Amino acid sequence: MAERSGSAGTDSSGVRSDSGSEDLTGDSRSTDGADPTAVFDLLADETRLAIVRELAVERYANWQWSGKTFAELRRAVGVADAGNFSYHLEKLTGRLVAKDGDEYYLLNHGLQIVGAVESGRYSDTGEVVRGETSYDCPYPDCQRALEGVYEDQYFRLRCPDHHRFAATILPPIVAAEHSPDELVEITTLDTRQDIQRARAGVCPNCWGPTDATLPVEEPTMPSQIEADLPEDTVLAAFDCRQCGLSFEVPPGACVVDHPAVVAFYEDHGEPLRGRPHIDLPFCGLASAALESTGPVRVRIDVPLDDDCLSLWLDSETNVVEYERECE
Ligand SMILES: [Zn+2]
Ligand SMILES: [Zn+2]
Repeated sequence: MAERSGSAGTDSSGVRSDSGSEDLTGDSRSTDGADPTAVFDLLADETRLAIVRELAVERYANWQWSGKTFAELRRAVGVADAGNFSYHLEKLTGRLVAKDGDEYYLLNHGLQIVGAVESGRYSDTGEVVRGETSYDCPYPDCQRALEGVYEDQYFRLRCPDHHRFAATILPPIVAAEHSPDELVEITTLDTRQDIQRARAGVCPNCWGPTDATLPVEEPTMPSQIEADLPEDTVLAAFDCRQCGLSFEVPPGACVVDHPAVVAFYEDHGEPLRGRPHIDLPFCGLASAALESTGPVRVRIDVPLDDDCLSLWLDSETNVVEYERECE
């Protein structure tokens, strides 16, 4: 079975990989492979969801191609009526489950769905969590600690007197298992991953093709969060051509993971990992300058103690040059 591990498993799925071209003249929307509602219909049943979850457990060790026989599976799910169990298993087979010999296997896209189910994303909105973090409000005249608030599957980092500084959608299990400071770290890593993925041309929402633009000609973000931001504020934008997701970030947020920046902070005894953008001056909204337009060069200064690291980005947010000046 080892040779069938990973994506090779989809070959035996019965989800026709050629369904798109074959059904062009017919009702292609009704094919299992093309219609996402078919999957939701399938899982809108407790027994079928239990089967899929049970088969996922089989694959959790390195996503191995491992399955269960009919009898093993029926025992694990706990359905006494074999006929009834068979009915539900047959419905899944060829869509989310593959049969190979006398064993049933969960297909790869089923694993993704079960992961989301286990995270609590589809269960409820989760407990409301609210607590102080160890980060201070960045406003110079504000002494208050930022608080982390988790509500409606949404984690926000905010100052009680000002506004929200960062927010991200998180599943309930993360909020239930971590402190507000840990949630700040997790949110930060998640945001960085989203930005890195978008910079690599992949949408963090739907994996569709994504374009980077630097600088954005008419940014919308400043008006959303701070109306009186200078007009020459430089922002980078990412736009997905498939789902339409679009978001703007300060250019500094694109270089947080750059080796020169990480090394610079390490040399000053300040690890960067998990540190929110709000705590990094070079990720601020006014931290970048457009030095030239042909070709585009946006300069970001990263000052630390008496040293400074400067980086230059091109129109697609790639770092084309950097320079470290020590005093
Ligand atoms: Zn404040
Ligand atoms: Zn997308």
